[in-house]
Formats: sequence, structure tokens, C-alpha cells
Amino acid sequence: MTKAYFVNYLDNILAGKIDEAKQGIGLGVNGSLKQLTAGVIQFQPVASTNRALILSCGVHGDETAPMEVIQVLIRNLICNRVALNCNLLIIFANLDAVQQQKRFCQENLNRLFKLDESKLDNLTLEASRAKLLIECLEEFSSCYPNFYHLDLHSSIYDSYFPIFTILPKIMSSVKGNMGNGRLSLSCDASIQSNSPSNTFSYYTANRFGAVSATVELGQSKPFKQNDLTQFNQFYAAVTDFIQGLDSATQLPFIVAKHQFKVHQVLIKKTKQFRFTAQLPIVNFTQFSAGYCVSTDGENQPYHVGDESEYICFANPGVPINARAGLMLKQL
Ligand SMILES: [Zn+2]
Repeated sequence: MTKAYFVNYLDNILAGKIDEAKQGIGLGVNGSLKQLTAGVIQFQPVASTNRALILSCGVHGDETAPMEVIQVLIRNLICNRVALNCNLLIIFANLDAVQQQKRFCQENLNRLFKLDESKLDNLTLEASRAKLLIECLEEFSSCYPNFYHLDLHSSIYDSYFPIFTILPKIMSSVKGNMGNGRLSLSCDASIQSNSPSNTFSYYTANRFGAVSATVELGQSKPFKQNDLTQFNQFYAAVTDFIQGLDSATQLPFIVAKHQFKVHQVLIKKTKQFRFTAQLPIVNFTQFSAGYCVSTDGENQPYHVGDESEYICFANPGVPINARAGLMLKQL
């Protein structure tokens, strides 16, 4: 493998040019890069530091903008336009789905990061990929135990707040490790989760004590049709951290203009599940007190309580027993 292969890493993945080789490549003043497995590359700076960051994208294979942002970052690191002062792991998560430009092949990868790995039966493409990614995380965290993790997505539907984060619930036994340096992201909105889950960011937060977030960057569009300038502020925050330019920052991890918490997870129990509002429902649409949000066969319909609620990720097309949407309350 050559530098040129990694300069066009995403294009090579999309073209089916997957190289499994694991050798390292020198990057001059920017240290070196090494592929841990197909789709996973680690950048190591010249000077040793315990500053560490994991950027993952492509957990859902059709969420293109984050992958294009990461491709720009890889290129700028290889060409020394962004200085490397951080141990950085970049993950293109669901390679098969990325190549087929669909959300997933057999099952939703972002429900397979289970703290109890014995529950991964390894029957699907996604389950075996989750196992492989977890091995990479173990290897990285054994060297750099204090790391940040941003799992980058883009939303299926339009959103009143285009850039938003979902913060995983941190179980009481976990102490978040800030590590060296301080990463601070500004976004339009932030959602605090209220329960454990099997998402990638929940996993890194609760397995490794990472400071983690799922980050939604705009609406999903086909490759090459994204306006990446809308993510300039996000890119600047990430590259400030990678370059070690954040020393004066006293801002918290997430600075959000609007803050929400998950009030209720809507689970689709039957194939009769319906939203009463017309689809698609824009993320963060507000419903007033008493409004009937959804019906589900013989099961109880969901009504908004005494104060307004907001909906996110409304998707009646999910499998039975999967999440059809999140009901939020503003903080
Ligand atoms: Zn996603």
C-alpha cells in the first residue's frame, strides 16, 4: 500500500479496492499511519502523547457526508496540511454497506455493540464486523486508555437542527476519562440518552470510559452531493484537537444551542405501527400536550404528556421490536 492509496481511501473502498495489508507508512513530520484491518487506520505522531481520539463513520453505509469529511481529514494529514499531535484511530465501520451504499446489509450495526459480547451470535455480516471493530478498540485503548470517540452519522430525514449530538447514558460505575487535551464541539442541539443501548458511542463510553458522542452531520445525500462547508465548524474543532491547538479551551465537550433529553423511546410492536403526522417527520418537530403521536395495533397509542414533546428519528419502517422514534423534552 502507498500513501496514494490512503489519500483516496474512501474512493478505493467504494471502488471495491479493499486492501487488508497491515504495514505502516511513514508520513514525515506527521509520524506514521498503519491499517489495523480493512477500513480502520491508526495515525501515530512523532512525539509521544496520551492525547487520543477515535473518529468513526459509515456505521450506516449510506450516511455519506461524515465519510467525505473524514476523507478530507485523512488527505490533509497525509499531505501534512493538518499537523498530527494526537493518536488518532479512524474507522469506516460497515464496509460492505458502504460499498453497496445502503444503511446496512443484514442488520443495523449500531445495535450490535454489546457489552456482553457473548450475545453477538456472529451470524450476520454486521455481527462479525462488530466483533472485529471491538478487537481494534481493545488494541487502541490498551495503548491509549483515555480517549474521545465521535461516531459520525447523518440523518435520514431533514432536521430543524442540522448538526446535533446524542450523548450516551453513562452507567454509574463508569468514570469518564478526559485524557490529555480538551475537545469541544459546538452544535445546534444535543440529546441526552436516558437508558443503556447497544450503539457504538454507548459502548466506548461504558466499556472504556471514553468521552463519547454520536454526532449527526446534516441529512443523508448521495456521495459527492454534500455541501461540506456546512461542517466547517465541526472540522475546525476536530482538527484543533488533533493538532493540539486547544490548550486554552475551557469549554465543555458539547456546547449546544438547544438541549433535550430522551423522554420516551417509541418501540414498534406490530406491523400496524403508524405515526399520525404525515411522513417524513422533520427531526425536532414539536407536538403539543395531549397530541396522539402514534398508534400500534391493539397496543396503547402514544400521547404527548402535559408539556410539549419533540420527535427525532421517526421511522415506522423499522423491524418489529426496533426503535421507531425518540420522544424528547427540552431542558
Ligand atoms: Zn446513522
